[in-house]
Amino acid sequence: MILPRAFRLVTGLLCLGLLANCAVNPVTGRQNFVMMSESEEVRTGQKGDEEVRKEYGVYDNPTLQRYVNDVGQRLAQKSHRGNLEYHFTVVDSPEINAFALPGGYIYITRGIMAYLNSEAELAAVLGHEIGHVTARHSVQQYSASMAASIGVALGSILVPELRGGAQDLFSLLGNALLSGYGRDHELEADRLGAEYLALTGYDPQAMVKVVGILKDQELFDAEIARGEGREPRRYHGLFATHPDNDTRLKEVVGEADRLAQPKADSRQAIYLTQINGLVFGDSPSQGIVRDNRFLHDGLGFGLNFPPDWKVKNSLDRVVALSPENDGQIELLLAGPARGTPADFLRRNIRLDTGNELDTALINGLPAATMSGVRQNKPVKIGVIFFRDQTFILFATAKTPAAYNQHRTAISSAIGSFHALQDSERKLAKPNLIHTRTAKRGETFASLARQSPLGKNAEGYLRLMNHAYPSGEPQAGQHLKTVE
Ligand SMILES: [Zn+2]
Repeated sequence: MILPRAFRLVTGLLCLGLLANCAVNPVTGRQNFVMMSESEEVRTGQKGDEEVRKEYGVYDNPTLQRYVNDVGQRLAQKSHRGNLEYHFTVVDSPEINAFALPGGYIYITRGIMAYLNSEAELAAVLGHEIGHVTARHSVQQYSASMAASIGVALGSILVPELRGGAQDLFSLLGNALLSGYGRDHELEADRLGAEYLALTGYDPQAMVKVVGILKDQELFDAEIARGEGREPRRYHGLFATHPDNDTRLKEVVGEADRLAQPKADSRQAIYLTQINGLVFGDSPSQGIVRDNRFLHDGLGFGLNFPPDWKVKNSLDRVVALSPENDGQIELLLAGPARGTPADFLRRNIRLDTGNELDTALINGLPAATMSGVRQNKPVKIGVIFFRDQTFILFATAKTPAAYNQHRTAISSAIGSFHALQDSERKLAKPNLIHTRTAKRGETFASLARQSPLGKNAEGYLRLMNHAYPSGEPQAGQHLKTVE
């Protein structure tokens, strides 16, 4: 969570919806019905880039940024659209992702970088995204997702700004872009990426390895999801089988083998040196979740969400969901504190019934709460002024019965907002990746015991070191740990 976001992307998309053009697909040479010319594509990318930077944040490590950009530029030069100006950015997100906006804007999360083990694998991720750009998948996708986006944008005008329509729009658009473009487009991006790998001097088989990394993430998440009683996540969303058995993937990557240089170097040691010290998991500038406590060192506050609720920290808000998904608490930052918290509620919140205000300090901080019903749902809203900023806690439940069940948990979460204590500051430190060589006798179980990653530590460490679901470190081999 950093700051509330602007609504600029919404207007950008609405304007674009009026423009439709036919363009020649740079990869196939055929006419494609797309809604953008190349210059419009670049403009759209630029606009989206501002949003992505605000939404995700750029990972604060210029050396790493330069390194990733260098690798990306080398690949892009060999691509079908070498004339385009490419931009490669590491975004400050723990999620496992990479994505491309139209016009050559490509992003990789620090989250996925933790699981890659060589420069060739990094190049495979970037090459795949370049493939989406050169084949203009993102343009086609952008056009397709636009109709839906406009619906969301219009919807957001009807609800109070607190609900953040643009956030919904972004996640919708984001999902369309991130979760893939359908099997055929993904395979095409894999094929193009493999080709660019070969032409740049990497082994194109790194593409198969990367898909394997994503598949392992999926298997591991399915294992955790079973324990948590939730739906597992899908990466790439498409691969039913493990990539080793995926004949079409092997086929499209195999085409690039004939272009490969005889002695391709994966540049493993160079990559591992670059990611030594990389933040793993939540970052301190965005707040850290520890045992359902949300701790934000930068903004100086802490909050305790109900014990078994799922807490998700995104850039502009933190959302906690009850285990049954029938109750929700959202924490938002709403700009400079003016007047009193009660004034803020009176000015900004209209409930259908209720509206009664309760003013009381919360842990010594000026605060006010309001409860009632909005759009047939029970709600409770808490506003706290802290260090000249307005913090909002917005709690709601699916039904009055669910609200009653969560009432105490919601009230104590709102009542737990506090200035960060010194003892909590230690907990708010991020976990970092360390790269070194394995010592004799080290096992993933022993490494897991020393790591701060909790009950799934062994799985994470195995995934990070390409040793999932079994396998142990060999003395002298490269090893990543989290400390
Ligand atoms: Zn893709």
